[in-house]
Amino acid sequence: MAFDVQPINGTLARVAARLCNFHTGNAELLPAHIDWLDSTLAPIVRDLPTPWVDIIGYASHLGGAAFNQKLSFDRCEAIRRRVETYNPNVSFPIEWGKGETESTGGANDNSGYWRAVEVFVYGFVPAPKPAPPKPAYDRKVRLHFRSTALPVVPEFTALANAQLVYDSCLVLLEFASGVSMGATGDDLLMLDASDGTCRWNDASDQQQLLDKLGGRQGVGPNDVVVYYANQIKEKNGGQLNGCAGHRPNLAAVVVSASGSPWTLGHELGHVLLGPNFTPVHSTDPINIMFAPTTGITAPIPAFTPEQVNRLRASQFCVPI
Ligand SMILES: [Zn+2]
Repeated sequence: MAFDVQPINGTLARVAARLCNFHTGNAELLPAHIDWLDSTLAPIVRDLPTPWVDIIGYASHLGGAAFNQKLSFDRCEAIRRRVETYNPNVSFPIEWGKGETESTGGANDNSGYWRAVEVFVYGFVPAPKPAPPKPAYDRKVRLHFRSTALPVVPEFTALANAQLVYDSCLVLLEFASGVSMGATGDDLLMLDASDGTCRWNDASDQQQLLDKLGGRQGVGPNDVVVYYANQIKEKNGGQLNGCAGHRPNLAAVVVSASGSPWTLGHELGHVLLGPNFTPVHSTDPINIMFAPTTGITAPIPAFTPEQVNRLRASQFCVPI
């Protein structure tokens, strides 16, 4: 049996918990949920100048998929309505009703663990005032986020980090779409177990599976798909933070949920620089193409002029 409130540890969140045991078919908060929100989450949200809160809702299998999709979102909404009373500056960049897509158990499973919402509180450093002028972007890369995992560095943080790097090339990273893949438990097992060995001009088994799961719907020919997977395994048993190998003309990167803050910018760099650019990796730890990205020492990693010229000429880097 699930506890009503289960703390979530090991993330970058200031505080996080899974609120379980919502009544069947119902989105009303339990007294224990309200207690936790008011006594544990509220003081942290009040103290942050610009807090952001991610809310991810679930439903058990019992009932229809469409009903459960809406139910999981309604459960998110119940939490959002309470949290927004704590601080007028709070934002909710990710509010995501996953329905029963990730739930385990049989068709009639009604476990309290899945009648649940996960809440994560993060703090933003307030923007310096006056805000610096926006770079005069003249090119852009359109990114479609497809998630099968809850990343340690949330998508919007990763995108904001990557944008800092691409600002210096006047390239805008455009958030074109972001959806849950709706991968089933079996699919996710296959993903985690698949051979994600990263090769150029080729898609790994993992990426082919991700593409097959519908990840390329609505993606233009010059757009880039960013997949988030639980983990990326190599043939030798090692793990990667990201992989930019993809079939020619179907640009995609896979970023592991355990990726560093710079993984997205780095893998995107591989796509834009293309398979023939050398050196593939920089030996300079202030360069975004340094590997591993966890070893990058600059507050904002840079590109060399040669890298900038090449990436701006990529077919995936289109004029604005
Ligand atoms: Zn690399």
